[in-house]
Amino acid sequence: MSRQLLEIFQQSHRELRPRTPQPEFQIEFFRFANVNNTIRLRDGRIFVRLSDLLEGAPESVLAAIAHILLAKLYRRQLQLQHTSRYRKYVSSHDFREKMHLIRQIRGRKRLESPQGHIYDLESIFDELNTRFFHGLLGRPQMTWSREHARNSLGHYDPAHNTIVVSRVFDRKDVPRHAIEYLVYHEMLHLKHPVKLRGTRRCVHSAEFQAEEKLFPQLEAAKKFLRTL
Ligand SMILES: [Zn+2]
Repeated sequence: MSRQLLEIFQQSHRELRPRTPQPEFQIEFFRFANVNNTIRLRDGRIFVRLSDLLEGAPESVLAAIAHILLAKLYRRQLQLQHTSRYRKYVSSHDFREKMHLIRQIRGRKRLESPQGHIYDLESIFDELNTRFFHGLLGRPQMTWSREHARNSLGHYDPAHNTIVVSRVFDRKDVPRHAIEYLVYHEMLHLKHPVKLRGTRRCVHSAEFQAEEKLFPQLEAAKKFLRTL
């Protein structure tokens, strides 16, 4: 763990919790398949895993991700200056190029592919993750359904940590915002795990619904889904 990285996290921690003693940190770069960063608190120690794609990122970007992760851990409001700096960096041309290369090298062979004829579910997930979740959601398996199912357009299967999207969306005449909305909805299920109430499987809590409204083309997307 580099000294500089540790200092960045300690500084960020001081800003968020000035009166709390510094916890012990364990920070490492990790080979995730995509840009992904995790944080957890265990026995008073903070464990951080940063995507190794961020190795060598400017200090300001590392400070931004430190803030985002610690604010998430302590359920504090995220500061816009940090979230926009981080987002700008991971959506920059150079970074995306690097990510693309790494993905090709690390790409695993799978039977069910996230790559459709028109849309690539993994890149849709990654893009939405950056736009709406600060890149904080770990990507589950993304797969197209075998059938052109109309009764189940998409669902998140927590047992297999998989988002399945119906193949009816993998067509040129499906607007991008429609499939983005569908994936976004399933990502919210990932973020807000279902609390089982009786036998209802698909629960959309008030929190879930409020967050769903943040999707800009919500109405247009829903309208399109009704035509399927
Ligand atoms: Zn749902």
